[in-house]
Parts: sequence; structure tokens; C-alpha cells
Amino acid sequence: MPSPRTKLSAPPRLPKNGMRITPLGGLGEVGRNMTVFEHAGKLMIVDCGVLFPEEHQPGIDVILPDFTSIRDRLQDIECIVLTHGHEDHIGGVPYLLKERADIPLIGSELTLAFLTAKLKEHRITPKTVQVEAGQKHRAGVFDLEFVAVNHSIPDSLAVFIRTKAGTVLCTGDFKMDQFPLDGRITDLRAFARLGEEGVDLFLTDSTNAEVPGFTMSERDLTPAIDRVFATSPRRIIVSSFASHVHRIQQVLDAAHAAGRKVAFVGRSMVRNMKIASDLDYLDIPKGLVVDFRKIQSMPDHKVTLICTGSQGEPMAALARMANGDHQIQVGEGDTVLMASSLIPGNENAIYGIINKLTDLGANIVHKGNAKVHVSGHASAGELVYCYNIVRPKNVMPVHGESKHLHANAELARKTGVPEKNVVIAQDGVTVDLIAGQAKISGKVEAGLVYVDGQTIGAATEDTLAERRLLSGGGVVTVVALIDPKTHKPVEPVEFLTKGFVHDKKTFQGAAAQVEKALVQTRTDGIDDIAKIEEIVVETVSTHLRRTYRREPAVMAVVIDA
Ligand SMILES: [Zn+2]
Repeated sequence: MPSPRTKLSAPPRLPKNGMRITPLGGLGEVGRNMTVFEHAGKLMIVDCGVLFPEEHQPGIDVILPDFTSIRDRLQDIECIVLTHGHEDHIGGVPYLLKERADIPLIGSELTLAFLTAKLKEHRITPKTVQVEAGQKHRAGVFDLEFVAVNHSIPDSLAVFIRTKAGTVLCTGDFKMDQFPLDGRITDLRAFARLGEEGVDLFLTDSTNAEVPGFTMSERDLTPAIDRVFATSPRRIIVSSFASHVHRIQQVLDAAHAAGRKVAFVGRSMVRNMKIASDLDYLDIPKGLVVDFRKIQSMPDHKVTLICTGSQGEPMAALARMANGDHQIQVGEGDTVLMASSLIPGNENAIYGIINKLTDLGANIVHKGNAKVHVSGHASAGELVYCYNIVRPKNVMPVHGESKHLHANAELARKTGVPEKNVVIAQDGVTVDLIAGQAKISGKVEAGLVYVDGQTIGAATEDTLAERRLLSGGGVVTVVALIDPKTHKPVEPVEFLTKGFVHDKKTFQGAAAQVEKALVQTRTDGIDDIAKIEEIVVETVSTHLRRTYRREPAVMAVVIDA
């Protein structure tokens, strides 16, 4: 079987009795989950999420899946199924609907409510089909059945897809909390029933495949959260994802029991909590929640603030608080409860924030020093359990970085799924299910599409490389006024800098080199100003690199005197 590491080309035409599965995001990264299913000339999409940028992607708002491979087939799309309401599963929908507005969106009540509110901000009124666990829905050549799964947001669904080419079960993000706050457990009886019917291909959540054992229950957090409310002398500031309804419910209950009031802070937190409470996913005791302005006049020991960042991501809000740049001014005796994950890879930034908040006099409670967070994803034990219950013919791990996908594949093999039936794909790699066998068949375009302000896809890898250069070494602009006949500078060459540290001597050597290079352009018969500027840039860059080991972005302006 070709591995995704070997060079793949465009896949061949899909035979009539086949189904093609193309992940456009979420494989090789944690985020922007999107999978396209193709059968009998029609397409169906499961999830369409965004990825949030990292430190090496400055100025980027969000990153989208690449729609290139489906762009000329938009009319063939039967529907988009949304497994749950997390940004990394629904955040890309507004951008896909900008390309075709009437693609039906299928999802559970809460998922569609969160998504519809988001689409409203983009001024899009979508066509929606609300479904619930246990329900079936026919979308053209795709017969869908929805199964309840448990995750870190209520109302999540797995989807079972029946076609003439075979069946696929997609878990979406899930875990197997046996004591969830809403009592809605992952429906393993349905998994078993579908397993009996026959699951030709099983797409499973890989996020926690490396974590041994079982993910703890949300309920296990209650003692630690209660302790925070029992012992904090002044304000309690809770940061959480704006979608983590159950975690927020636990905080509300603890605040209520402690006789405190609560205010929600941050647009997405206020919006989502209103939706969740209107639809009865969140139970807010009467009089508990007051608005932010009102709570500010209350005594500190009565105050709870539940906040998040502008994208619903909690660390962004905490970073601003740490820098004194937020409407919540953290002070002496406040307690900050970080009721969310510390995003892997960003540890340094997070510990920097924790240190700054501590310096402001706050006591910080986080998953590193108290049991205040559990993951939303199934650990290895739960995944093995699922494989044994479903007994799938083929397995394709999804949702995770390469190491997570490989760990998940290993679990599948351990439960007896034959090596040749475990497919490890990457974004853009097409997997064909034909006559019960899943196989890698090719690759389509699936790059990172950057949203930067109002532009989509205009910022490229080159843009980011330039931005990193600017932030790393600053800018040096060289200005040379030259005699058009001799190319000799008629005035001393000027060096203007931004963010580049220098002294009087730094540019002396560079000035001499620039003069020499300019005269040389005359000897070489180069008259094109753009070309001369390029040579000046090269000369100064080389000089600064060799002499000072510095690499600023260098620009040149050469003017005929
Ligand atoms: Zn999720």
C-alpha cells in the first residue's frame, strides 16, 4: 500500500462501486477538521473547522481547510454534517457557505444553535436540518444515522454513513465519560449494533491515543472546584472555553453554593451561555448571573467572573489580563481558576502568563496544581474498547498530529484489525473504499489557507516568513542618491532602522561595500534601478550577517540624482 510519505499524484476516477474519503484538515494537526465523502458523483462533508495560529504565524486570525479540490464541485455537495459545536469543527462553515450559501447544514440542536449565531455575525442565514441521536436522515446517495457521543461540549454526535459502496462510522470528537453531568453517555449499544451490521471503515478520534487508560469523568473535578470557592478570599476569575457548557455549569453550581454572584465576560461567552441556557443545556439558578457592570459594585468575596478570549479561546483573555490590557484588572488576593487545557506546544507562553498573574498578586489554580481539568477525548483504553465493540473491517485514525494517528493505528492493530486494513492518511490524501478494502489512492491540494483581516488566502507562507524576519531582526532601509553616469553616491549612503540595534560604527563597513557594489553595477552595465536595489540589499545583508551575525529585513531605495 502506498504510504502518504511516498509522492502521490491526483487520484484516478472513482469507480461506481466505490466511496472516496478525503480529509482536508485535522490529520497531522489538531484543528480545522474536515472530511469529504464521495460516492456516485455526489459529495458529503463531515465538519468544517478552523485551526488557530501559533506564534510563528503572526497576524493570522484563523487557518482554514483548503477548498480547492471541491471548489468546482460545490453543486454536488449534498450536505455538511456537523458532529459538534467546537470551533475546530464548525469555524470554517461561514467561509464555505460564502462559496455556496444553500448547502444544507445537519447537526444537533445545540451545535446548530452555536453555528447559526456565528453565521449571523457573518450575515449568513443557513439552511439547516436539526437531528438528534438515534435519528436517520437521507441525503441523496448517503444514508445517515446519528449516534450520541460524549465530549467536552453537550449534544455531540457520531455519524454512521450507509452507501452502496459500504458503510463508515465517524466518531467525531468523543470520550466515554460514564458519569457525565447531563447523563448522556456515548451510545456503545448503538456502536455494537452498527458493528453487528458491519462497519467497513471506522474513523476514530486520535487526540488522546497516546494517553494510557481512561479519561477521568467531568464529575471528578467537583471537589477541586468546590475547594476554590470555599477558600478564595476575594474575586474568583474563571477562564474557560466559551463552549464548555458542563464545566461552566459546575462553576455556576459552586458559586451558587458559596453565595457568590457570577458575570460572564467576553462576547462569545455571553452569547453561548445565553443560547445554552435558552435551550436548557445550562441551568442557571435564579438571580445568580448579573451583568459585568453590576457585579463591579459588589464586594470582592461575592464576585465570580467567567471569561474567555475573543475567539472563545481562554488563554487570549488571560494573556490580556496578565498585561493589564483587559477590562478585568487582576489584583492582590484574586484567584484565577484556569478551567481548561494548557494547549500543548504553548507551555512557555502559558507559564509566562501564570507568572505575570502571580506577580499581580493573584493565586492561580490550574491543571498543574489542582484537578480542575479533564480532557474531552477518549484515551487509549476507551479507543480499544470501541474497536472491540465495533469490530471494524478497516480503520482510519483522524483528528490528531501524526504521532497521535500512529498511536491510534497501533491500538487498532492490537485489537486484531489486519495491518493492511489500517490506513494512516494525511490532509489531502484520498482513501478509496472499494469492495470492503480501504486503500490510499492519491492526493489532492490541502494546504493551509490563512484568514488575515478581510482577506482569505492572500497571506502566504512567504508573507509569514517576511513577518518572522521583521519580528526577529528588525528592518534596515538603505537610501543611496547616485550619479546616473558613474553610479557613485553623491551623498553619504543613509541607513534607516526600525527594531535593529546599532551604534555609530555598525554601518561604516556596509557603506563602503555599498559604494563599491554601486560602482561595480556601472562597470557591469546594469542600469535597471530595481536590479541595482537588489544588489544593494544583497550586499548589506551579507555584510551584516558575516560581520555581526544579524539578519534584519533589508530594503534599498536607490535614486538617480
Ligand atoms: Zn471537539
